[in-house]
Amino acid sequence: MSEDAVERYKRLVESIKNCTKCPLHLSRKNSVPGEGPLNADIMVVGEAPGRSEDEQGRPFVGAAGKLLDRLLKEAGLERGKVYITNVVKCRPPNNRDPKPEEITACLPYLLEQVRLVKPKVIIAVGRIAGSTLYKAAGLKWGGVRRERGKAVKARLAGIDVVIVSTYHPAAALYNPQLKEDLESDFKGHIRKAVEDALKGRAPKTLEDFIPLGPEPGGPKVGSRGYVEAGGEGEGSGGKGQGKA
Ligand code: SF4
Repeated sequence: MSEDAVERYKRLVESIKNCTKCPLHLSRKNSVPGEGPLNADIMVVGEAPGRSEDEQGRPFVGAAGKLLDRLLKEAGLERGKVYITNVVKCRPPNNRDPKPEEITACLPYLLEQVRLVKPKVIIAVGRIAGSTLYKAAGLKWGGVRRERGKAVKARLAGIDVVIVSTYHPAAALYNPQLKEDLESDFKGHIRKAVEDALKGRAPKTLEDFIPLGPEPGGPKVGSRGYVEAGGEGEGSGGKGQGKA
């Protein structure tokens, strides 16, 4: 990473720490810019800081963070080699969903992080992360249940990336079925997308986009697991699933 990029990153972190662009600054203890190597190939994007993150100023350090660390291992990754951040950098009161206007205010920070880190794969955990990243890339979000299982080529902030989506670890903490699905995602399509990206294998031919869906009527994936984004309707991730 160039000296210029490092300086840009330092300025970005300072801006986030002092940011007052949305009302979330009023109730935060600490903003949580994100952490990890600036040359990371893999980026994890969550929804927003929770209580522990707000207290420590670090992402994914509570119970959900411990689960994420374990899940990363399932995908053949170490936390220390992954850049981890959230869509919004300050904790919403009582862990409510971030409001659309808060996401809009905070999004430029995430896009600048993508520009600086230039990840090959972004793991979007939870519907807020998935829907925000898809929208920012001009793709249609079909809900977590439809999008999980896909590895989607996208251009985000001028960078070519593959986006893989799954549930939020916080949603899986008290839901054994969701936890099982999350583990299967990290062992399955996420691990594969990571391995392909690290080996320099990206989808290149039309065949890579041939549909074979993991769910009836769900997303369609090609022989190497890559698809075009799409899906219909808001399939999941409603209030009943919390952070899912
Ligand atoms: S959530 Fe983002 S936009 Fe809102 S105050 Fe925090 S850093 Fe600024």
